[in-house]
Amino acid sequence: MKILVLNAGSSSLKYQLIETDTQTMLAKGLCERVGSKNSYIKHGADKDERIFHQFMADHEEALRVVFDALTHSDRSTITSIDQIDAIGHRIVHGGDFFDESVLIDQDVIDKIARLSPLAPLHNPPALACIEVCQKLAPGMPQTAVFDTAFFQTLPPSAYMYPLPYELCRVHRIRKYGAHGTSHRYIAHRCAALLGRPIEDLKIVTCHLGNGCSISAVDHGIAVDTSMGFTPLDGLMMGTRCGSIDPAIIPFLIENENLSAAEVNDIMNKKSGLLGVSGISNDVRDVTDAAMSGNERAVLAYDMYAHSIRKYLGQYIVEMAGVDAIVLTAGVGENAERIRRLIFAGLQPLGIVLDQEKNRLRHNGKERFISRDESPVKIIVIPTNEEFMIAQDTYDIVSRLP
Ligand code: ADP
Repeated sequence: MKILVLNAGSSSLKYQLIETDTQTMLAKGLCERVGSKNSYIKHGADKDERIFHQFMADHEEALRVVFDALTHSDRSTITSIDQIDAIGHRIVHGGDFFDESVLIDQDVIDKIARLSPLAPLHNPPALACIEVCQKLAPGMPQTAVFDTAFFQTLPPSAYMYPLPYELCRVHRIRKYGAHGTSHRYIAHRCAALLGRPIEDLKIVTCHLGNGCSISAVDHGIAVDTSMGFTPLDGLMMGTRCGSIDPAIIPFLIENENLSAAEVNDIMNKKSGLLGVSGISNDVRDVTDAAMSGNERAVLAYDMYAHSIRKYLGQYIVEMAGVDAIVLTAGVGENAERIRRLIFAGLQPLGIVLDQEKNRLRHNGKERFISRDESPVKIIVIPTNEEFMIAQDTYDIVSRLP
């Protein structure tokens, strides 16, 4: 089955065409700066990548450009949109409406729209894409795969906040989590690599990219995750502060004469590695600065690892043990020094990093980096959310009458 996977951001549109029968990616690309006069499309992978500057006023025009690139570029594997079997959309927020991927109908569209206030940068452009697809490819099955769905299994003790109950109920305030498709993918790949059913395993999954989150997956079921009501919660990230004493917010509003929106902006865009180091949100830059003795870079680096270790410890206790710890995304897959800090001295817990395997680079490959005798396995697994979305779409569409 040929599945087109779409991932719409506020001014971007990522896409992949995936052949599920052979599990191959046929085409991929990205529209950037949609809505601005500098908009462009990058179509193709790696050295075949081409950039075309083209004005795309909105997501409708971006999708038309994508369809054109898919059917008319030199290496296109399809000549008409009709050759696509289904379209799978990444939807950032499914609230507590959706605990799994679904076929899109009017009810699903209405619910995604109702959740837009919780994901204002993502749900509206995804909805725009769904509607344009209905127009450009009428009758083609479309599915919604939610970043939040994997965490709908969390127990109330993990997803509720200790605020007045009524206030939480009225405003739907609770932990929703994020990056769920990535956590689900790496947890399942982990079980496959260990050759054991996921139902037998306790896994901690760490998605460490620009945004960072960590989850506890107990016998195949997510029981806790670090991102919360929004993706600001939890771990220290590239530019986000993660969890801090909430009293700091009114303190800043009063003492720095800031608005709530300004504090929100500081916490989302000017904090984390960037805020502490004053250098960059990129782990590579902070590593270089720390290596050359920059004290704030060293501090940022240590705080970043400390934040991960804190959640790791919490989740191991929540699950009363752990069989495997999985790392993914830019930092998890590549930052060997951060990995060394995360796992330093954890031998008494049965977590033994293999320094040599940790140092070796296997770009884009799944690999064990724990010592062979380590009771707890540490595994690097490149995430593949697009594949997961294609797989879910395949499962839904093949069940259709
Ligand atoms: P996003 O969350 O935007 O999808 P990625 O998963 O691509 O992010 O991760 C981006 C981050 O990964 C970069 O900001 C950088 O800090 C980190 N990163 C990428 N490559 C390396 C590397 N070789 N060594 C250390 N960190 C890296």
